[in-house]
Amino acid sequence: MLIVMKNKATKTQIKSVVKAIEKLSLKAEQLPGAQRTAIGVTGNKDYIDQGRILNFPGVKEIIHVTKKYKLVSREFKPQNSKVRINKDITFGGKAPVIIAGPCSIESYEQLLEIARKVKALGADMLRGGAYKPRTSPYSFQGLEEEGLEIMSKVSKKIGIPTISEITSTDQLDLFKKHTDMIQIGARNMHNFDLLKKVAKLDKPILLKRGMSATMEEFLLAAEYILNEGNPNVVLCERGIRTFEQSTRNILDLNTVALIKEESHLPIIVDPSHAAGRYDLVAPLAKAGLAVGADGLIVEVHNDPKNALSDGGQSLTFDSFKSLIKEL
Ligand code: PEP
Ligand code: MN
Repeated sequence: MLIVMKNKATKTQIKSVVKAIEKLSLKAEQLPGAQRTAIGVTGNKDYIDQGRILNFPGVKEIIHVTKKYKLVSREFKPQNSKVRINKDITFGGKAPVIIAGPCSIESYEQLLEIARKVKALGADMLRGGAYKPRTSPYSFQGLEEEGLEIMSKVSKKIGIPTISEITSTDQLDLFKKHTDMIQIGARNMHNFDLLKKVAKLDKPILLKRGMSATMEEFLLAAEYILNEGNPNVVLCERGIRTFEQSTRNILDLNTVALIKEESHLPIIVDPSHAAGRYDLVAPLAKAGLAVGADGLIVEVHNDPKNALSDGGQSLTFDSFKSLIKEL
């Protein structure tokens, strides 16, 4: 539910409505707009006597948000949200944010070389997995804590902000210490306990869409994070599973375009995990930006043939260079 204040409503009038809502054990979030402030109300609204709220000085009207997702919806907040990483990097800003790096952190030397190169070629942020959610328990599982320490050192040396995937609440302290942004992977999009606890770290979060999650489920997963008081969520479309077997996943550009209508959150595209093969990464990356994505996350490796994970979809430095040029 949205309580829309009159455009001449005073701060005191807004505060007294917020107080009245909070007295009912509901959450009230102020959403300042260009013309007027709205107050977003979440929780069990059965307790609200709407007539009483309408009688508060400064209240214009009450609007019911019809969607299941509230805080992430454009009904709640019409303006695009911006998620800031540092003074130069903002998702939802003017330029698309480019995240590049290996699927997995394999060694200090490997990550240093990749970081140096992708930064020089135009990447804004460095990716690299330390805890790898692999389909098979016999595949490389990541360097874990050592991987995050490597990432932290490389980041300081090269001067590039980092992102890595968290897979368990046991890792919260390590991620708080070592990364600038935290990725929640496709396999954990439905891990609501993890979503709620990562939200509390007060770091920007990249939330990837589950491989069989509907748009509504995806937005509701983001709603969990905003509902914990963390508005710094960037969505990521990384391909969904369909009957088609010729590529790893299908990059669902419909949903990218639709989410731009439905939600104020920035959304980026991961062409690497969508395609599963390096030769389709560039066309999918371009398509993603063409439908309005706010950035890309792309796997780049110094030696894709010998990568410990996802080598087949990783770009070489040369192909990453061409991609950036074409973009
Ligand atoms: C990844 O980014 O390395 C990854 C495992 O992605 P996803 O969760 O989209 O499969
Ligand atoms: Mn990968």
